[in-house]
Amino acid sequence: MKIKQTTSVVTGAAGFLGSHLTDLLIARGHKVIGIDNFVTGSVDNISHLGGNKNFKFIQQDVTEFIFLDVPVDYVWHFASPASPIDYLQIPIQTMKVGSLGTHKALGLAKNKGARFLVASTSEIYGDPLLHPQPEEYWGNVNTIGPRGCYDEAKRFAEAMTMAYHREHKVETRIVRIFNTYGPRMRINDGRVVPAFVSQALKNKPITVFGRGTQTRSFCYVSDLIEGIYRLMMSDYDLPVNIGNPTEMTMLQFAEQIIQATKSKSKIVHKPLPQDDPKQRKPDITKAKKLLKWEPKVKLADGLTDTIKYFRTKV
Ligand code: UDP
Repeated sequence: MKIKQTTSVVTGAAGFLGSHLTDLLIARGHKVIGIDNFVTGSVDNISHLGGNKNFKFIQQDVTEFIFLDVPVDYVWHFASPASPIDYLQIPIQTMKVGSLGTHKALGLAKNKGARFLVASTSEIYGDPLLHPQPEEYWGNVNTIGPRGCYDEAKRFAEAMTMAYHREHKVETRIVRIFNTYGPRMRINDGRVVPAFVSQALKNKPITVFGRGTQTRSFCYVSDLIEGIYRLMMSDYDLPVNIGNPTEMTMLQFAEQIIQATKSKSKIVHKPLPQDDPKQRKPDITKAKKLLKWEPKVKLADGLTDTIKYFRTKV
């Protein structure tokens, strides 16, 4: 007897995280239907899947009705711009995909009886007053600031997900993703990893914003995707942080990138963008306990792969 193949829908499949997730799902035997409108995604991230019988691609904006005439087991909603520069340039699209797009993706999951996972974010904690951030923290977000379009759309996405769970009994999962890095990030998206690595590879000044005392914690993409996969397959329907708790200042990070690339770049300071969170570090107690997950890839090793990728792009 032939066992039915599991089908997953990935929105944002041509993006940084969406494409790595798609690869993992296909490797684990799923058929994947990827959806992307290429606003921030790139065909380069999925071109290796061309001709793969387990991958279908639909070019579509997920804020429009999603029609699929096949059974679906899992919906992974990853479509969204994810860089502070995007929030400044396309704030309305950012809000629409997080709100209307989440509604459409939830509607698809409900219609198909599929389990749904939304890619939420550490940004829902805003500029956090509690450190590190546990899932119980409600956050400190400026609704009308330059990041408000992303933060509030993702907060709406979480609320909408819980509403579909409570009212329509859709099986739902919420992952709060912290800073992640790896191959397939957009070189010009303005985020700190592509910015510092590309500047270092060109021996150009490394632009540290403010005094560089603000902190972040960086998770390598393969660790992140494994954690998210485990969350989808778990039976836990409240938010779970997935990220790497190794925290550092942006000044320390700049120095590490200079070392790792053997660059001649010098550090220069630029104005700190408005509402830039002063500190960020996930409390991953929940992921460790519920999913038996914690990050494995050391920053030095993850950076080696990331730098190798960006060498082909600069
Ligand atoms: N940053 C920086 N120089 C850059 C880009 C970013 O110093 O060229 C800083 C930024 O101010 C923030 C951190 O790096 O404190 C991470 O920024 P990113 O845009 O990657 O994402 P965020 O975590 O702020 O959403």
